[in-house]
Amino acid sequence: MHHSKFTRRNFLRAGTLTAFGSVLATKSSLGQKTTIYDDSEIPKIKEYRKFGKTGFEVSDISSGNPSNEAVLKALLKSGVNLIDTGEAYGNGNSERLIGEVIKDFDRSSIFINSKLYTEKAFPSKQEVIDRTNQCLERLQTDYVDCMQIHSAENTAILKDEAFHSAMEQLKKEGKVRHLGVSCHGSNWAYNTEESLDKIMLAAIEDGRFDVLLLAYNFMNAEIGEKVLEACDKNNIATLIMKSNPVYIYGLMEGRVNKLNEQEEEIDEYTQAFFDKYKIMNDHAREFFKDFGVTEEKELMEAASKYVLSNNSAHSTLWDFSNFDEVTRMLKLSGQKISKQEKLALNTYKQHMGQFACRIGCNACHSACPEKIPVNKILRYNYYFTAKRQEKRAIAKFAQLKSKKPAEVCSTCEGFCEKACPFGVSTRSLLAMAQNNMEILT
Ligand code: SF4
Ligand code: SF4
Repeated sequence: MHHSKFTRRNFLRAGTLTAFGSVLATKSSLGQKTTIYDDSEIPKIKEYRKFGKTGFEVSDISSGNPSNEAVLKALLKSGVNLIDTGEAYGNGNSERLIGEVIKDFDRSSIFINSKLYTEKAFPSKQEVIDRTNQCLERLQTDYVDCMQIHSAENTAILKDEAFHSAMEQLKKEGKVRHLGVSCHGSNWAYNTEESLDKIMLAAIEDGRFDVLLLAYNFMNAEIGEKVLEACDKNNIATLIMKSNPVYIYGLMEGRVNKLNEQEEEIDEYTQAFFDKYKIMNDHAREFFKDFGVTEEKELMEAASKYVLSNNSAHSTLWDFSNFDEVTRMLKLSGQKISKQEKLALNTYKQHMGQFACRIGCNACHSACPEKIPVNKILRYNYYFTAKRQEKRAIAKFAQLKSKKPAEVCSTCEGFCEKACPFGVSTRSLLAMAQNNMEILT
């Protein structure tokens, strides 16, 4: 790789090129015909799992932040019995939507997990109480099954005095039944030593949290499984997010093909990047055939089954936005990953691992002289591309307090890439992320 060729123009160009694929993916998903199903066509949940100390048995697949009343109703009718939300989702609209839907269901049969966010510390006990009461009002319910600290970025927040004293009172009043923590990893600008596993293991050690929500998938298996094992030993309930990192494969493949068709003149850095990608892609495709996997969809299903097959991962959250997704995902309930599918995922990891930043990792952060939150930016890009939550991703990217990659990465040697133990092509991915998410900023 010739770093000297990595000028600002090239940096943005690398992003423009790879961003093309994500636009394609978005269009194809938006253009997808959404069929209206009757209830009998939607698969039923096949497996329920003991949910730590909560006394609940939860569906192995659950509702992430819901965005559509009809879809949420269909999920509940199909046996999904856990809904994840948070005051920050849609400025409370997620909780309002849930409130409207659960009125028609038996409240005691549904586990509602909500969250309160703070950047560094909760201002006061009273504020936490007030915000929890507002959550309950929006949810039109007397209690939440679990209230979590949203996106804990360091271990200090786990001991927050205002949060815990408020929760002690709210538990006595019957308004909150369990406490929990969600975590994507650290905000390294504040503390480079914190990581997803460190924060989650500290939450278990603390002893006051009954439900942990973490990013876990076959790409970050080492980090996730360390936490899940500890949860198992301590009878802590677990919820999984970001379970499917298979998205960059198709996006980049589409772009490589397009470049070849257009016979575009491209710069040296970009050419080198894509040549490398194409070789790996071609190798991977050969291997996939051996495992009976021919389409990206099959790989994505295998990724979901990888998580579903781990009994310590009690329920996997999915942000269902339409009936097609409901049908596609719910049919995986109760399924286990096959040996062939496992081999296909290993091959994907081996060949395409450099295109996926491991959620929860922060191993390269201390190497960056500009304090760019690499993991956070690439997670926002995951929202943009894989979850198709473009507005949310763009808003989060705009709120970053750090410099943006385009301001500094073009003149940097790429210390993050050298420090990454997984060999992730960080600068190209950051360029893609910047191009995706700066659209409206
Ligand atoms: S290329 Fe990597 S190390 Fe350099 S400024 Fe950008 S994020 Fe930081
Ligand atoms: S680029 Fe590599 S080291 Fe940096 S956060 Fe991602 S996976 Fe970890």
